[in-house]
Amino acid sequence: MDLELSPEQRRLRTEVIAFARAELGHDVAADDQAGRFPSQDWRRCADFGVLGWPIPQAYGGSGFDPLTTVVALEALGYGCRDNGLVFAVNNHLWGCAIYLMLHGTAEQKERYLRPLATGSLIGAHALSEEQAGSDVLAVATTAKRDGDGYRLDGSKCFVSNGPVADVFIVMARTGDRAAGQDHLSAFVVTSDMPGVAVRRERPKMGLRTAPMGVVTFDGTPVPAANLLGREGSGYRVFAATIDWERAFMFAPQVGAMERLLEASVRHATSRHQFGQAIGGFQAVSHQLADMKIRLELARMLLYRVGWLKREGRLALLETTMAKIFVSDSLVQTASSAMTIHGARGYLTEDGIERELRDALGGPIYGGTNAVQRGVLAELLGVSGALHHRGPR
Ligand SMILES: Cc1cc2nc3c(=O)[nH]c(=O)nc-3n(C[C@H](O)[C@H](O)[C@H](O)COP(=O)(O)OP(=O)(O)OC[C@H]3O[C@@H](n4cnc5c(N)ncnc54)[C@H](O)[C@@H]3O)c2cc1C
Repeated sequence: MDLELSPEQRRLRTEVIAFARAELGHDVAADDQAGRFPSQDWRRCADFGVLGWPIPQAYGGSGFDPLTTVVALEALGYGCRDNGLVFAVNNHLWGCAIYLMLHGTAEQKERYLRPLATGSLIGAHALSEEQAGSDVLAVATTAKRDGDGYRLDGSKCFVSNGPVADVFIVMARTGDRAAGQDHLSAFVVTSDMPGVAVRRERPKMGLRTAPMGVVTFDGTPVPAANLLGREGSGYRVFAATIDWERAFMFAPQVGAMERLLEASVRHATSRHQFGQAIGGFQAVSHQLADMKIRLELARMLLYRVGWLKREGRLALLETTMAKIFVSDSLVQTASSAMTIHGARGYLTEDGIERELRDALGGPIYGGTNAVQRGVLAELLGVSGALHHRGPR
């Protein structure tokens, strides 16, 4: 694997950073406090092409290969201080658009993927339910055959982008759980279908500019043309897509780690106590060294995933490691940044406490890191590490 970025990728990185710094996240402190979705920044992302980066040009996207997409997302995470906005972009791309890219029919792509790529529709992933978190197969929302289509009933929670989304990828039961993994099917559902209701989730700790919702379906008629894949293939559709979400969702977090490291170096070299810069104390400098090590390892893992995906190779082991390592590392790095900044890090003004609050979601979404460690152990041949089959 060649770790040297091409001149085009380096230029893209520079352009994305310049765009993100100039155009995004200027009101993040106020938006975070108000729990407000920055719709103007979202529009700017759409105009810059962010919402279609990995989507083929044939459907209005940029057609970036997976490695280039990782580089662009990392640059976005580095340049944009609003982690919630970047998270909303990620949910749009890796919770929704990627499902249509990989499993959609030509008609579904034309109808949904094209407007998702240009940002005229917003995407979300409605999978979790009150009783179905890590245990995806416990999904209770039903899709019953009704004439030519299906009738959807149930409720989804924790849906990122939910309150602003137009298109949901929804997992529902079309059979009996006794049918093993074949009782689930995936559907493309739009917010304007009859019986779809969305309300905001209860307030959350971080990523507050990415709105979260509860989505309910009350006898929602869904045409058979909106089935993603075949009836009963929902879990396979999910399993074939989740590794994209696991890795690519976390690319911007590498950028955030670099931003936090730079802020911490600046503070450690400019803040003086006991007559010297605090960076001169080993307790501080060693934290900076560890932040740098985590940053470089996280980047290498992510780039390796991007490269494997570009080559069309299997990357389940690598994406699982990337998800765990990058999200845990960002929490440690944000915590170190807080420690190094002292009380200033604890105040809202500098935004360090926001970075820590935002980081703490990473080990939970996309499949908790505990469950991912079980997946990793199973991939290493340790059977029974997850006690049952079918976790996210
Ligand atoms: C910021 C954020 C955004 C999210 N966005 C979305 C979204 O857009 N769409 C969506 O559908 N969902 C979303 N979620 C929900 C997320 O996917 C779930 O929170 C996650 O899958 C875990 O489910 P749970 O919270 O119900 O925890 P549970 O499954 O109840 O787990 C609770 C604890 O038990 C542990 N645990 C459970 N099973 C096992 C096991 N087999 N082995 C070891 N430990 C285990 C977990 O690791 C965890 O520590 C989001 C969550 C967050 C925090």
